[in-house]
This record gives sequence, C-alpha cells and structure tokens, in this order.
Amino acid sequence: MFIKRLPDFQHHAPASLSEALGLLTRHGGKAEVYAGGTDLLVAMKKREKTPEHLIDLKKIGEMKGIHPDGKKGVRIGALTTLGELERSTLIQEQFTILWDAVTMMASPQVRSLGTLGGNLCSAVPSADTAPPLIALGASVKMVEPRGEREVLLEDFFRGPKESVLQKNELMKEVFIPQPSDFASGKYIKLMRREAMDLALVGVAACLTMESRGKICKDARIALGAVAPTPIRVPQAEEALINREIDEVRAKEAGKAASVVCRPIGDIRSSLAYRCSMVEVLTKRAILEAYRRIR
Ligand SMILES: Cc1cc2nc3c(=O)[nH]c(=O)nc-3n(C[C@H](O)[C@H](O)[C@H](O)COP(=O)(O)OP(=O)(O)OC[C@H]3O[C@@H](n4cnc5c(N)ncnc54)[C@H](O)[C@@H]3O)c2cc1C
Repeated sequence: MFIKRLPDFQHHAPASLSEALGLLTRHGGKAEVYAGGTDLLVAMKKREKTPEHLIDLKKIGEMKGIHPDGKKGVRIGALTTLGELERSTLIQEQFTILWDAVTMMASPQVRSLGTLGGNLCSAVPSADTAPPLIALGASVKMVEPRGEREVLLEDFFRGPKESVLQKNELMKEVFIPQPSDFASGKYIKLMRREAMDLALVGVAACLTMESRGKICKDARIALGAVAPTPIRVPQAEEALINREIDEVRAKEAGKAASVVCRPIGDIRSSLAYRCSMVEVLTKRAILEAYRRIR
C-alpha cells in the first residue's frame, strides 16, 4: 500500500500559552495547532489539511492536568490525555460517565497521545467525550491574545468539524461542575466491533435524584453520532424530570430521543437502524444511571 508522507511544514514548540497565541496570531490561517496529533496528522496525510506552520502544544504546562476545584467541580487541562483520564480515580469515581467514554476510545497507544481538547476541537459528530461532558453540564474555556471566554459545551459545536473556536483561539481547559451525591450517569457506545471503532450511536444519560425515593430532580441526555453535532435532548429529559424512574419512563424518554435525532445513513449503518438504537440505548443508559445512584 502506498503511504503518503506528511507535506512540508515548519514546526514550532512554544513553552507557554502566550508564546503559542503569539505564533497563532503571526501565522494566521497558515498555521494549525496540535496536541496528540492523532486526528491532525491523519488529516495532513490525507491532504485534507496542509498547514505551513505546525504548532505543537505539548510543552505548555498551563494547559495540563486534572485539578479538583473544591466543591465546585474539576478543571481539566485541554492537553490532558485520554490515558490520564482513564487512570484518574477522581474521574472514575466522581465523573464516571466520562470515564465510561474514554475507556472505550481507540487503543491504549492512541489514548496515551490523544487529548481531551483535541477530541472536542476536532468537533466530529462521533467525538466520544462530547455526550458525557454535555450531560455533565461541562463548559470550555478558550483563550486568545486579548482575553478568554467560557462557553457551555452544548453551545460549542456548530456543524461537522465546526465549532465556535476562532482561528486565533486555543481551548485551555474543560470545567465540569460537581455532581450531587444523588447523581450519576452512564455512557453507552454502539460500535460495529468491540474495540477501536468510532461510535455508530453514543448515548449519555445523567440523572440527579431527590435525596430519598425514586423522583428524578434533574436529567440530562446527550447523543453523539446521530446529528451534525453532538446534541442535548431536552425532549427526552422532560419525560423524566419530577417523575419516578422506571422502565416506562425510560422507554418514553428513549422514544423522544429517537424522534429528535437526525442521523445519516452510510456504509457503517442505516439511518433507521441508528434511530431505533437511539431509542433502545437511551432507555438502557437511563436505567443504568439510576441503578448506579441506588
Ligand atoms: C486509530 C484511531 C482510533 C480512534 N478512536 C477514536 C474513538 O474511539 N473515539 C473518538 O472520539 N475519537 C477517536 N479517534 C480520534 C482521536 O484519537 C481523538 O479525537 C483524540 O482525542 C484527538 O486528540 P489529539 O490530541 O490527538 O488531537 P490533535 O490531532 O492534536 O488535534 C485535533 C484537532 O484539534 C485541534 N486542537 C487540538 N488541541 C487544541 C486546543 N487545545 N485548542 C485548540 N485547538 C486544538 C487541532 O488543531 C486539530 O484540528 C481515533 C483516532 C485514531 C487514529
């Protein structure tokens, strides 16, 4: 098989956020940043992207690490690798739905390079960290030379491979608010095979229950790979809020989610199959989230 070499480019390895932003401003549309490179270098080999300047973010300490923020939640640097998330007991125990997702992504080798920020900034509809983070109510902080701004992740995506991130901006970190003691979630990823595959359908369900009893105080449902962007599904959430969680409610929410989704049919799966799996997996994710709380 003919393997294409990377096109020529000039490599930069800034050691600070301000240096990286300066390089981005100087080289404008001729530059691309990268973290793990597991998406970008593939796109460059395919000549989908041919930047003249490649800015490696890996030396920037300010964009790394998992930082608990008291009772408020956790800040995760955009350069945190999927492998670091997988090995974090904080993520596994308190943000389990995100842990569900990263442990099902790619391979150990890719997870040791690929980053959380890279997964979100690629903005593909099947990005596995997006549905759990939307269901957790996460926001992302973006920086540019004149300042920074924060947006809810559910407002970040604009279309396939498109987001609100501007050419002169970098994603610095992801913030996840602390879930209540009576909350939990579940992410389910449907793949054609058990490992190393992109999601045909991804469903994330987070429930917050009243301290005692079966009444659901809050619900957040998000889907991946079944619309031009990862989406939140308020219609499914409404079927659960202030109700008892049981098979009937979960099924109702699943139906609502399958009505809202707008998947494409392609060589990997038909449109009808994806819609019916949204219904089945949304119900399953809700019941599993409920089981985890109890
Ligand atoms: C074999 C294989 C299997 C895979 N399996 C999965 C899977 O199961 N699920 C899944 O969701 N993905 C999968 N991927 C895709 C990829 O590994 C992930 O999306 C990964 O998290 C990308 O992170 P990265 O750091 O390598 O991104 P990079 O390739 O470095 O960057 C991706 C894009 O984001 C931009 N970018 C990166 N970081 C920032 C930042 N901080 N600020 C602004 N822009 C930034 C880059 O300019 C580029 O456009 C797979 C890839 C491969 C090669």
